[in-house]
Amino acid sequence: MTSAAAPLTDLDTEALRAAHADFARAYDELKAAGLALDITRGKPSAEQLDLSNALLDLPDGYRDAAGTDLRNYGGPNGLPELRSIFADALRVPVPQLLALGNSSLTIMHDTIAQALLHGVPGGELPWANQPVSFLAPVPGYDRHFTICERFGIRMIPVPMNEDGPDIETVRTLLATDDSIKGMWCVPVYSNPSGAVYSEEVVRALVSLPAADDFRLFWDNAYAVHHLSDERPEPIDVLAIAAEAGNPDRPLIFASTSKVTFPGAGVAFIGGSEANIAWFQHNSAAQSIGPDKLNQLRHAQFLKDEAGLTAHMEKHRAIIEPKFAAVDAAFRNRLAPWGAGSWNAPKGGYFVSLDVLDGCAKRAVQLAKEAGIAVTPAGATFPYGEDPRDANIRIAPTFPPLDELTTALDGLCTAILLAESEALLAERN
Ligand code: PMP
Repeated sequence: MTSAAAPLTDLDTEALRAAHADFARAYDELKAAGLALDITRGKPSAEQLDLSNALLDLPDGYRDAAGTDLRNYGGPNGLPELRSIFADALRVPVPQLLALGNSSLTIMHDTIAQALLHGVPGGELPWANQPVSFLAPVPGYDRHFTICERFGIRMIPVPMNEDGPDIETVRTLLATDDSIKGMWCVPVYSNPSGAVYSEEVVRALVSLPAADDFRLFWDNAYAVHHLSDERPEPIDVLAIAAEAGNPDRPLIFASTSKVTFPGAGVAFIGGSEANIAWFQHNSAAQSIGPDKLNQLRHAQFLKDEAGLTAHMEKHRAIIEPKFAAVDAAFRNRLAPWGAGSWNAPKGGYFVSLDVLDGCAKRAVQLAKEAGIAVTPAGATFPYGEDPRDANIRIAPTFPPLDELTTALDGLCTAILLAESEALLAERN
């Protein structure tokens, strides 16, 4: 390897050629190794899933605290015992927090479908009877974008800062475009940037002038998923919105997907009394009630808020070293060449890496050809279009640590080759 590393962009052409030759050699060796590694999706590892195996022997009995037989129909709001375990972390009063099926994405999807068909409280028309746009902080979560694409909802990207979406951009857009009916928000440990919204940003989001039927899709998927002792104080978005005179603006979503089992967890929706009454009215036509036995076993397994916190510490013990491995790989391999910038998140499931503009797609392609599957470049932007072609989402939780380390090292080789190629092409 060329030893005297310097930012690739600062190298003279001869040094750049030498570095490129070294990276190309390293890449050939990588390809020859015949790897088959996958760091595409933010899934818990088998070791993490094992933490919740006691669920497989629960529930013990089938009645809730009030003596209701949970095997039967009914209980459309979900089990109060389980809702109370999550109420404080999500800052939603139990009566306004519903526990439903296994997927919060399903609830988000259905909420948007209901808004399109019936309109939301405070709105004059169903969304479908008017132009509808959503603000999409970028980089963001591809499955949020997929819901909008599926419904033909136009997305307008908004840059993300370290303390949340760029408020000046949001202010200008809301003031000039009343087709904006929604905004995707992952307020704690954003997917993928790890950003935690500040109280100032939250206050602005609930207060800025906007359409009466504008809703914040407050996806608090990572509220309890800490990776360090430095923890953000949960923000009571419902109270702040009510204070601002817009109590119906936030719709809160969460789930136990990355607490217990993603395939068999429990999802939640919270909101103002009016929003919850609206949601209940719509969903009463959909279901006679959720799987309350699953909710009972979750309540018995987690026990209380302290039990939830203790359980999340066990997740942290498994995944914190994986996040440290990402940081170490990029520090050792990319930083000496000025070849990337990334975040070291204090929670959540992702690291967001920016490489040299115009190089993300090529780097991900090179990694793929060497047997390392990475989330497709562009996935973190609406319509898969990263205008700078720079962002790559790293999902380190699923593979075992040794495989992750090998995959990251290979990805760095692919990035260095892609960047040196692009810089050489510019000079020719
Ligand atoms: N929201 C965010 C921000 C996520 O990152 C994920 C999982 N990757 C989900 C929602 C998925 O939630 P669920 O499993 O509850 O549908």
